[in-house]
Amino acid sequence: MHPYPSPQLEDSFGRRFPYLRLSILDACNFRCSYCLPNGYRAKDGRGKYLDVQEIQRLVSAFARLGMRKLRITGGEPSLRRDLPELISVAAEATGVENVGLTTNGATLHRHLNRWIDAGLTALNVSVDALCPERFERITGHAGLEMLLDAIDQALDSPLRSVKINAVLLRDLNDDQLPKWLEYLRDRNVTVRFIELMQTGDNLEYFQRHHYRAQVLESHLVKEGWQLLDRATDAGPAREYQHRDFRGRIGIIAPYSANFCAGCNRLRVTANGDLRLCLFGETGVPLRPLLQSDDQFSALQATLIRQLGLKRAGHSLHAGETGLIQHFASIGG
Ligand code: SF4
Repeated sequence: MHPYPSPQLEDSFGRRFPYLRLSILDACNFRCSYCLPNGYRAKDGRGKYLDVQEIQRLVSAFARLGMRKLRITGGEPSLRRDLPELISVAAEATGVENVGLTTNGATLHRHLNRWIDAGLTALNVSVDALCPERFERITGHAGLEMLLDAIDQALDSPLRSVKINAVLLRDLNDDQLPKWLEYLRDRNVTVRFIELMQTGDNLEYFQRHHYRAQVLESHLVKEGWQLLDRATDAGPAREYQHRDFRGRIGIIAPYSANFCAGCNRLRVTANGDLRLCLFGETGVPLRPLLQSDDQFSALQATLIRQLGLKRAGHSLHAGETGLIQHFASIGG
């Protein structure tokens, strides 16, 4: 039961927003071909990211308005040394019931226990292929085996949820389903296949490697996978189960009809801009309102006012990608 009875994060379409995705930096140590193929390059010196106190004020303000699920993203969030402190600040904010992290898992084997001790409850790890050569070709990073071992550790840990994200890429990993099914047979994990989305930087790549997620989804349904009900604060995935498999499969298909009808999440970038939509045209600077506790009501009023301006959905079908240049800039 949420301690603040009347969630106020509601848009003009009646959608509620219990879910905040907070990017804490835009830097990354991978070179994923669909995101940062040439690696991360700091634009002008190191990014001036929100600090612990600013994030504490931000999370409290959202929680007071009805947010109860926070996902920490990047770039690659484990590159911030104060990540455990940020996790505990979020976990201590009254009203937040679920603190999740999306990571490429490069340091998961080293930091998992510290993150859990800090209050982490859910983990999403990016694994775009199950064969080392493909994995390295897509991410520019070796170390798949160590990553899979670390995920098995996470599956044995007290975390409430462990999920794997795999971006669907034509001619790069669209033949990996048999491997994934083998992987899922005896593991209590959800593998979510994410349809590649166009961004400001990847048009040519998108045209070469886009694979419609619904093709995979129809195949799964034909093979007896059954759709599960979706929780109100769940992410955008349609999740499926099958009696022969312990694991589940999720499908994130942003090009599918009505994808945005169930939108329930807001985003804040690493330097404190509110993004009403992943593909939105505007970012609203919140940082000036994160400088003292006296600004709390002004911050909340700004969030409620801005939510009234949220559009019904994205215009990706028209090739409109808004402000997003690549996913490291906002954490997907
Ligand atoms: S594209 Fe925008 S409106 Fe649609 S689900 Fe994502 S954030 Fe919500």
